[in-house]
Amino acid sequence: MNLKSFDIVIVGAGPAGGHCARILAKSGRTVLLAEQNDNFNKNDFSSAATPLETLSQFDLPESVIGSFWHKLTIETSKVTQTWESPESLGVVLNFAKFRAFLADEVERFGGEVWLGCRYTGHSQANGETAVEFKQLSDGQLIKVSTKVLVDATGFARAIMYDKENDKPNFLSGTGIEYLIEVEPEVYNKYANDLIFFLGDKWMPKGYSWIFPMEQNRLKVGAGRIFLDAKTVKHLSPLKQYIDLLIDEYLKSKNYKIIDKHGSTLKYSRGLQDIYWKDNIIAIGDTVSTVNFLGGEGIRHGMDGAEIAGKYIEKYLDGKISDFRDYETQMHRKFDGKWNISERLAVRKYIDDVNDELTDKMISYLKYMKTEDIMDILFYYKFEKISRGFGGYLWRKFQGLMQRLRKSF
Ligand SMILES: Cc1cc2nc3c(=O)[nH]c(=O)nc-3n(C[C@H](O)[C@H](O)[C@H](O)COP(=O)(O)OP(=O)(O)OC[C@H]3O[C@@H](n4cnc5c(N)ncnc54)[C@H](O)[C@@H]3O)c2cc1C
Repeated sequence: MNLKSFDIVIVGAGPAGGHCARILAKSGRTVLLAEQNDNFNKNDFSSAATPLETLSQFDLPESVIGSFWHKLTIETSKVTQTWESPESLGVVLNFAKFRAFLADEVERFGGEVWLGCRYTGHSQANGETAVEFKQLSDGQLIKVSTKVLVDATGFARAIMYDKENDKPNFLSGTGIEYLIEVEPEVYNKYANDLIFFLGDKWMPKGYSWIFPMEQNRLKVGAGRIFLDAKTVKHLSPLKQYIDLLIDEYLKSKNYKIIDKHGSTLKYSRGLQDIYWKDNIIAIGDTVSTVNFLGGEGIRHGMDGAEIAGKYIEKYLDGKISDFRDYETQMHRKFDGKWNISERLAVRKYIDDVNDELTDKMISYLKYMKTEDIMDILFYYKFEKISRGFGGYLWRKFQGLMQRLRKSF
């Protein structure tokens, strides 16, 4: 039987898979983007906050924006700090509309998008790869053939690892978020503000957040990371901390829950993921492009997808015979900042920094300019912290970093 054949089959229509399919379809390759969910509202899991430049960097339209924000607030147990700008600093994307937009772009450029199709396996034959999907509506099995297969299945890493047991230990993160509709007076108070909660009072061993969305809607969520399931068994459920934010912080009496969603992140310490095997290449969270300190992964996944796109084109043109250089370039791009972020994340969320130190650190940051805070939170320029700290706290912070380096 002759299988339908593609240059590239990409499994997983998240930000990384969707963007990779979009750029390859645009450059004239035959592309299939396959996703297990049959519509994008089903796994609308991400809070999807991102700095403003994401829009121009990846050519995203206004229609995928949930809201703009021009304020950043950090709440600890005892301290509140806000930094703001007259201009917008970033957006909260409507994650469902954003991924649907990427899929529409793939079709606009001549690619195919198959929703409701779960990848179930692949086999190699005659220099090409046969990929098998199960259509979820009727259980039918579909096979296609491809020159390059892309694992963009996020934390599942469904292609890179055949069996769950083959996977190494990852750092895990779990986040739950409610999309709520609130009274206009509550919404107006928080409509332009990205608020993070770091102290034990709000979210021990993790962080929680309130992000603005479309008119009268807010995203309220809580997340934590852990090394193995045992370490979180004794902790209270995340839902309790979301209720706390709604009742005690927002003080909303008549809110309506529009949606409850959540997901998992699995991050490889030291970026030890498998980046490629034969003609298979992994992108996005499958190779830990999510930054584990802040949990931001959308634009980094898309960044990595662009790097992968270049190597896939070279491979298809016969200029390279494997994806070794892709792996090298990804390490060059991510290793430095990701390794520091990872150590800080482990220290803050797992080893649990003393709550008072968190209060102190945040209160010293108040002297910093908004652009410096953006650089630290979104561009991981931790060296800028020295400017905001007094001598004592800066020495303490350096001591902490030294201890972390030794323990790694
Ligand atoms: C609660 C939470 C809040 C977050 N908030 C933010 C934020 O504010 N800003 C930000 O930048 N990042 C945020 N992130 C991280 C960000 O959402 C992820 O890093 C990003 O979505 C990763 O993109 P991806 O394309 O690699 O993977 P994913 O978005 O996970 O996409 C993978 C896709 O593969 C599909 N798939 C999996 N297995 C199969 C299979 N066998 N067959 C077919 N399809 C399959 C899945 O259904 C999914 O659609 C958050 C994450 C969580 C969990």
